[in-house]
Amino acid sequence: MSDQSTSYAFQAEVQQLLDIVINSLYTDKDIFVRELVSNASDALEKMRRLQLTEKNFFDSDLPLEINMTTDDKANTFTIADYGIGMTRDEIVQNIGTIAHSGSKQFLRAMSESEQKESNLIGQFGVGFYSAFMVAEDVKVYSRSWQPEAGEHLCWTSDGKTGYEIEEAPGQRRGCKIVVQLKKEFEEFAKDYRIKSILETYSSFVPFPVNLNGERVNKIEAVWLKNKSEVSDEDYTEFYKFIAHAHDEPAFRMHFSADAPLSINALVFTPKENPEKMLSGPVDPGVSLYCKKVLIAEQPKGLLPEWLRFLKGVIDSADLPLNISRESMQDSALVQKINRLITKRFLKSLEGEAKSDEAKYDEFYSKFNRFIKEGIAMDFDHRDALAKLLRFESTFTEPGKLTGLQGYIDRAKDDQKQIYYIIGPSRESIEAGPYLEAFTARGLEVIFFYDAIDDYVVNALAKFEEKDLVSIDRDDISLDDAATPEGEALDEATSTSLCDSIKNQLGDRVKEVRMGERLVDSPAIALTPDDGMNAQVRQMMKQMNQDVGVTKVILELNPRHEVVKKLAAAYSAKPELAELVTAQIFDNALLSAGLLEESKDMVKRVYDIIDQAL
Ligand code: ADP
Repeated sequence: MSDQSTSYAFQAEVQQLLDIVINSLYTDKDIFVRELVSNASDALEKMRRLQLTEKNFFDSDLPLEINMTTDDKANTFTIADYGIGMTRDEIVQNIGTIAHSGSKQFLRAMSESEQKESNLIGQFGVGFYSAFMVAEDVKVYSRSWQPEAGEHLCWTSDGKTGYEIEEAPGQRRGCKIVVQLKKEFEEFAKDYRIKSILETYSSFVPFPVNLNGERVNKIEAVWLKNKSEVSDEDYTEFYKFIAHAHDEPAFRMHFSADAPLSINALVFTPKENPEKMLSGPVDPGVSLYCKKVLIAEQPKGLLPEWLRFLKGVIDSADLPLNISRESMQDSALVQKINRLITKRFLKSLEGEAKSDEAKYDEFYSKFNRFIKEGIAMDFDHRDALAKLLRFESTFTEPGKLTGLQGYIDRAKDDQKQIYYIIGPSRESIEAGPYLEAFTARGLEVIFFYDAIDDYVVNALAKFEEKDLVSIDRDDISLDDAATPEGEALDEATSTSLCDSIKNQLGDRVKEVRMGERLVDSPAIALTPDDGMNAQVRQMMKQMNQDVGVTKVILELNPRHEVVKKLAAAYSAKPELAELVTAQIFDNALLSAGLLEESKDMVKRVYDIIDQAL
């Protein structure tokens, strides 16, 4: 080696990550082997792909393989690959800074979570840096594939403050990583120990993996196998390999067909929502193969956007090998694959939901945004996706979920509409006046709590020919067989009361009228059919959009004592009547989530008390 060495300090985030990795009590130290094998495999895959387009390579005769050695005298573990390697700039960029999303996610999760840090390492994986869990120091020798980018380099670090890069002539193409193990981790310098880690995991590495000169894997394309030949453990290991995951998948779908397409697919749903900690959408996670040869790694357009959380492989023998990434999305065949697999996946999820409700509900609690996104954006699969929606309703206990099919099954045959309400929580919906008309008539009402639900339900519009209708709409006709008991105000008094109130409220209401909806409440604010519902207004306001004032319809309950007394008060105590009217209106807006200004309310209530006493 030359004496020329340059020292660098770690980027602050790397420093932070390393502190955590080195000091963590994470027990599963094995993962560092997987992480390094994974990186080596990625570097070989990049090399394989470059070979399709480039002609000039450094060390062009080298096979695409991974070689590991253990040395229990020197207490080292070494892994070498003949992949693309790194130039000096790339080393600094790739392993001196945090570029990779797993580590970023990890750090974010660390800063936001109360969870014990050690669990989080297992959940995200920290890539290359995981070597520092067991290392005294780590050396990365590298020579890039680029013939001109010439340097033979050695990167060294103890993982504490920074690293050095020096020239180290005589390297082969790719990377060789030497982990000098801490005394207490000498087990990783033993052949049998590494072999047992590699046993299951490395069988899915699509390149030869050798340990101390002996081949340890046979390359397996699990997705081409018969289901009966693959054990649950194999599936899980394969998932961990392709998804860079450390936990088990929630669901898997292994599917093959010969006609009309020759296709084999193996896709997994992860346990955790990959976007939970991120602000933007993740990249798609399903790769396209043709007879075991990778055509495109996680291409966009292979599956619908909303399925970007899936991990796995789709292999079709019908694909032309030379299909380019650019033309892929336009290919009629890829579109066929897209439709077929999406349909199949939806069916398999429906099956999962039937066979284990609790498990499905847990999945739903984490992944519902994807399903809703699908309903809103993907017209072709809207109906199938609708079956996967879950929610609470007036017929479920708090915390228990049901679906639209269940709703339909429970509804009376002549019920033409599906009723729902959007509100911030079950409690606030139940406290409002909207449900009573439906409860009195034995009609189930769905509760939606998410701000995007309004958008989703509007996109869906119908399920099994029945319209989805928000119960705060004015245009609902309920059957009158269930007209509430009690004597109502007569026609003439009703009309004059409505006129007086309309006079007082003026432009703030579209209409004031008597109605048959209410049972226990005196009044309700309804959204006119051309109006904007409260939830949507709130969303638009959050986005700083000018939403103006909603003119609601104020519907009164002609059987309610307060309404009857108010009618009488308009002639006997007009001043009090006005105060009470204003208060009833504000109460109705409050229940609708439409009350913008509440500061007058307290004073008004005191005025009412004053007059009443
Ligand atoms: P990730 O592999 O998830 O991107 P890592 O922290 O493990 O994150 O690695 C960071 C980067 O270092 C990789 O993205 C890759 O560019 C580079 N790298 C790591 N190992 C190798 C290797 N064996 N050959 C070439 N590049 C590598």
